[in-house]
Amino acid sequence: MRYQGREVDIEGRVRLVMESALTARDRVGVQDFVLLENYNSEATFIENLRRRFRENLIYTYIGSVLVSVNPYKDLEIYSKTQMERYRGVSFYEISPHIYALSDNTYRAMRTERKDQCILISGESGAGKTEASKKILLYYAVTCPTNDRMAALGDHLLQSNPVLEAFGNAKTLKNDNSSRFGKYMDIQFDFRGTPVGSHIMNFLLEKTRVVYQNQGERNFHIFYQLLDGGDDDLLRRLDLDRNPQNYDYLVKGNCPRLSSVSDKNNWKTVMKALSVFGFTEEEVQILLNIIAGVLHLGNIQFGEGEDGEAYITTETRLNHLAELLGIDSSALGEALTHKKLTAKGEEMISPLNFEQAVSARDALAKSMYGRTFSWLVQKINQSLAPKDEIYHSNKGSSVIGLLDIYGFEVLQHNSFEQFCINYCNEKLQQLFIELTLRSEQEEYETEGIAWEPVQYFDNKIICDLIEEKHKGIISILDEECLRPGETCDVSFLEKLEDTLGGHPHFVTHKLANGKTRRVLSREEFRLLHYAGEVNYNVTGFLDKNNKWLNRNPKEVMCQSENPILRHCFRRKEVIDQKRPVTAATQFKTSLMKLKEILMSKEPSYVRCIKPNDAKQPDRFDEVLVRHQVKYLGLMENLRVRRAGFAYRRRFEAFLQRYKPLCPETWPNWHGRLADGVSTLVNHLGYKEEEYKLGRSKIFIRFPKTLFTTEDALEAK
Ligand code: ADP
Ligand code: MG
Repeated sequence: MRYQGREVDIEGRVRLVMESALTARDRVGVQDFVLLENYNSEATFIENLRRRFRENLIYTYIGSVLVSVNPYKDLEIYSKTQMERYRGVSFYEISPHIYALSDNTYRAMRTERKDQCILISGESGAGKTEASKKILLYYAVTCPTNDRMAALGDHLLQSNPVLEAFGNAKTLKNDNSSRFGKYMDIQFDFRGTPVGSHIMNFLLEKTRVVYQNQGERNFHIFYQLLDGGDDDLLRRLDLDRNPQNYDYLVKGNCPRLSSVSDKNNWKTVMKALSVFGFTEEEVQILLNIIAGVLHLGNIQFGEGEDGEAYITTETRLNHLAELLGIDSSALGEALTHKKLTAKGEEMISPLNFEQAVSARDALAKSMYGRTFSWLVQKINQSLAPKDEIYHSNKGSSVIGLLDIYGFEVLQHNSFEQFCINYCNEKLQQLFIELTLRSEQEEYETEGIAWEPVQYFDNKIICDLIEEKHKGIISILDEECLRPGETCDVSFLEKLEDTLGGHPHFVTHKLANGKTRRVLSREEFRLLHYAGEVNYNVTGFLDKNNKWLNRNPKEVMCQSENPILRHCFRRKEVIDQKRPVTAATQFKTSLMKLKEILMSKEPSYVRCIKPNDAKQPDRFDEVLVRHQVKYLGLMENLRVRRAGFAYRRRFEAFLQRYKPLCPETWPNWHGRLADGVSTLVNHLGYKEEEYKLGRSKIFIRFPKTLFTTEDALEAK
């Protein structure tokens, strides 16, 4: 075949996409799924992905959506030379790439003066974070800059190692898994120079601080500190190097990683912190907290005759108190007693052993979680646009980057999966809304009659979860706040009572043996847009309740450690109101996120993980099929293909195909629309095969285009 391997040749000149896609399509597949003849077939879709993956072509489009398959090996496609290739080049004229999407987004922001956002989704290990880093790198390298701004690009890149140290961990699926969702805004001035940035974090997986599944680790920073901190530092923090000596680090039985050097990363993180303007002192007080969490985990309890808990590790308690700058006996009491106010009077009652353990763990989680938020806030301060510059530049715009956990279905799904999947349900809703909106807008501007698209509207599932008073979150909150005996099972019963007849909600009792997989008595099943998921309610109430006993809070807000004082405010203690629950807080931030995203022009990166072994060159078809389903890619393609498979601006179309018609060759001098019209008439296009808009030609079937391409090739 004449064109074999052309697309693989990454150094090649600009090769028109259609050319390579069509002529070499048997071998390397099509680079835009809209060109698949049989676009309803999942098998064809996956075969196309596989062919391309085999050729190291990890990127493929669905129209303007970029599908990316994690290669699990370094491909030489991210160099500066590559960036240059994609600069200013139209999306379709060159092989698909994350740089093409980055560049296109940037140009759209510049020329249309409209805020943009790039939504990256996919399951853990699919390459989301790597993709977001590539995008940042692209902007840092290619955007115009000046001396004052040069630092910002660097800061943007440096925010990654810091956030990853504190927010990422080794899981079974990914050695460097982000355990929080991240939305990042990059602000540009009217010249297109990046001037500032802001990060919003979501739902850090705090449970990991106190517990890890077999084969998983706690957050990287703990191991980095133990491995990389110098002797003096460790002596000061009263730590020894062996992670096995810390209760919070042994649960997963996985102290070291072959793929990660904790020591090197420690150096990178410390350097990055100084770039962000953390003073030596600030770093020290931050590390006091990190070490404090480890010491807290080693606090042990005994049980007295009346079942009351007491601390058996007094020396450790004293060390810990000293490290955190708090009073040792107050801390001891806070871990073993509960303070209540009844009828205006303060009462203190002892905790039993289990309660003390869970008070300790709750404190560790909240210390870590709040410190993480503090860290993000600090980074934001240093990324914030310098006021006078930013505000003097009207007409500035924003590109947002969303790197957020994809749909998650584990063996055992709990509160975390519930939140994550709810988030994905919302993003799917947004995706459908925005895709339809932009299709409709394009039809309107082009003056083409709108052809309605049938699609599955997942509003019903979003409502099931979030509706006021009768949605799952409301019911959960009610159970959490209700005085008296409540438990996870009473929550489940309440769900059954309220949601019994809902078509997307099933439990053991409601199923009557009608479902395929048997549900246990602690589970409920949601029929998500992407498929069924069973959630085990055990722990739901606990995880949703952010109610920390009053005493630990009181102790923390009196700390000499300024970070802790910032994280635990006096006001919170005085104010007796219950804090908002975790689910409601998450719901609120999702609403806010949706609002932000709705105001922007979206682009999408859909990441796929080719195998579970984290190995290169392995394409596990079953695994990929699941993801194609969970990412809603077939639905995506259907919406995109509903009207026309292909659309191109008149000049581009004419330029490419003018050799096929004597009247347009070598140059057409009349109106562009007339030229295209003359051309397609000459080619014998039938009326139902295409439409001419104001500036673009719309072609309904790929076959029409393939025939034209073949004619061009034969010439
Ligand atoms: P996610 O954020 O989706 O959980 P990551 O972006 O952390 O996944 O990717 C997991 C791992 O896969 C990375 O640590 C890296 O080893 C590999 N990887 C991901 N994307 C690429 C890529 N484009 N090229 C090479 N390796 C990649
Ligand atoms: Mg990630």
